[in-house]
Amino acid sequence: MEHSFWFVVTASFVCPNCSQNSTEKVVLNHPTTEFSELSQKIEDQVFCCQNCKEKVPEGTQVSIEMSRPWTRESLKSLSVDLPPEK
Ligand SMILES: [Zn+2]
Repeated sequence: MEHSFWFVVTASFVCPNCSQNSTEKVVLNHPTTEFSELSQKIEDQVFCCQNCKEKVPEGTQVSIEMSRPWTRESLKSLSVDLPPEK
């Protein structure tokens, strides 16, 4: 089921594999704006290095920036990859 709120999470980290900076944008769909639940969801994400495409190993320091809540409609104005409509 699709939830009401969409968040764009920007994760930045130094890749332990290739030592380059990488920034990844992830779109999260969530039923509430409850931050503690969201941060749990973000922690469960596996990020990939945009340079070498390797998965970032656990324990890597990832800095997270989160957008305000968006609706699916308003998200269309952003240049992010939306998951297909369910
Ligand atoms: Zn890398």
